[in-house]
Amino acid sequence: MSISLSHLTKRYGADTVVDDVTVEIPESSLTAVLGPSGSGKSTLLKLIAGLESPDEGRVVIEGDDVTDVDPRYRDIGFCFQHYAPFRHMNVARNIGFGLRVRKQPKDVIDAKVAELIELVRLDGKAKSYPAQLSGGERQRMALARALAIEPRVLLLDEPFGALDALVRTELRQWVKELHRQIKVTTILVTHDQDEAMEVADQLLIMHEGRIEQAGEPTELYERPATDFVHGFLGPTTMFKGVSVRPHDLELVPASEGAIEGTVQSIMELGFEVQVTVALSDGTAPWVQMSRNEFRNLHVEIGSLVSIRERD
Ligand code: ADP
Ligand code: MG
Repeated sequence: MSISLSHLTKRYGADTVVDDVTVEIPESSLTAVLGPSGSGKSTLLKLIAGLESPDEGRVVIEGDDVTDVDPRYRDIGFCFQHYAPFRHMNVARNIGFGLRVRKQPKDVIDAKVAELIELVRLDGKAKSYPAQLSGGERQRMALARALAIEPRVLLLDEPFGALDALVRTELRQWVKELHRQIKVTTILVTHDQDEAMEVADQLLIMHEGRIEQAGEPTELYERPATDFVHGFLGPTTMFKGVSVRPHDLELVPASEGAIEGTVQSIMELGFEVQVTVALSDGTAPWVQMSRNEFRNLHVEIGSLVSIRERD
């Protein structure tokens, strides 16, 4: 289901935390809302869910204006970072909770729960209690619970934020795959740009309550509309007074380029090497290159090199 937000605004006292947001979220997309802490991401999600009401603007889901509709009747599934499972209920009962609230018949609930347990790969854990699950398994259970009501829209607010890096990377891949299977329109809030770039087919970049730019990840990365987006997505370095991508610069032997400098530092990060060059104007841009490129360059700290933009 597509979601369309128009002129959505939320104030807390004198602070405008969501500021005139107008955006279309395409049907069946996996859209990531990416922005620094405090930029209004969670508030935006709460406005869509109906957990907060806007001071101005409308929320429309698939043509239905739901701005004044109670959250229970919006058909939205949520999953938050600090999801609190019912500790006294086993996995199956946690997942089936929303269906019992909706007074579904027992056989319908049982069938749905069994299907979801398989979908989120918790086979064999139906009778376990939340305390017996790993962090990653608990978040998968939370997702199954959100999906049980067959929502029109799935909202995920930093769902993996509390997990360690390895589990998080695994779960992102899994969410991407899950989304490919079920195609429910999903909004994932994150402050982690790698997570957003890797998972999402659409990105919304938020900054101080506003949407700075919306579009496909590679489009935003390659054609950032604002300095904020440019600086926020991927590394940047200053060269000739402008902010550029370090992989858009290259080093060549000293005589071949116009701008010369001295290698100041070399950081080898496995496949990638970062070389910082001190220039005579006092700046020190850094260049990102592959290990092979670095080897072929034959430079060390103190070497004289030329730096230029790649063609
Ligand atoms: P994010 O999720 O991007 O970190 P939030 O949407 O949680 O940002 O918060 C945006 C801003 O709104 C922050 O400055 C936060 O302190 C403020 N804020 C959030 N919720 C409330 C509230 N219930 N009352 C007052 N201020 C709030
Ligand atoms: Mg938040």
